[in-house]
Amino acid sequence: MATLWQAHPLCPPEARNRLQDIVQGLPEAYLLPPQTGEEFENPESCLRRLQGYALSKGFAVIKVSGSTDSKRVRIQYRCIHHGKQTQNNRRLELHVERDSEGRTITQRQRESTHTQQMNCPWSVYLSLRKIRGTSQTALLLGITHLEHNHPMAINPLQYRPHLRLDEEHSKALKMASAHRASYLGYTTSQRILNKEGLSLSRTDYYNLHREQKAGEVHHEFEALIWALDKAGFRYACRADNVFNEAGELVSRQIQQIWFALD
Ligand SMILES: [Zn+2]
Repeated sequence: MATLWQAHPLCPPEARNRLQDIVQGLPEAYLLPPQTGEEFENPESCLRRLQGYALSKGFAVIKVSGSTDSKRVRIQYRCIHHGKQTQNNRRLELHVERDSEGRTITQRQRESTHTQQMNCPWSVYLSLRKIRGTSQTALLLGITHLEHNHPMAINPLQYRPHLRLDEEHSKALKMASAHRASYLGYTTSQRILNKEGLSLSRTDYYNLHREQKAGEVHHEFEALIWALDKAGFRYACRADNVFNEAGELVSRQIQQIWFALD
């Protein structure tokens, strides 16, 4: 897990934690620049990896051409700022709305900034090619250009393609929160989340409910669960949980705990 990743120091506080949670939950390999010859099972996993990388750097990727229907697969991915600037875009920039302190903060302006056409050359492609030294073919990544011609965004969550990641993260938190309340271990919770195409970092998982007023009594119990989970024990707990109308845990009582080492 990419636990050391930090958001830009100027990233707005309301986005910072979400952004760090999402990026820290990504597979560490996503944070490395795309490499020639990276192999993918399907175009979806390729886009997920590229989008993860883009999020960690401060841009977004979009698929601009290609189809998987034909036998000759070749899909091109470019930076979201790849388009050529038109007269219209330029005019929009001149009419920037500002607040009393001269900052450009309206939603309209923000959107126009993040879809701005800058003719950015960043471009990679996925194609079905022979694996070197074998007769097998695979979906391999090719690099056209890895430089951008614009600064990286301070809060990349504002790019539309990353909003989906943000929604998935909220969904993962919600599901994991229920697992945590039932004292499911991180590994078990993660297995359930993975089936839905979701994931959450171990730290985030154990931070859930930490501030909840379930009583000091549970403190040692929490430590026991954490230790069992880290040491690779299989365990199960039976707890009676009481939730309020908002779905928040208000109290719980442990009835049983069972654990074993495989
Ligand atoms: Zn770019």
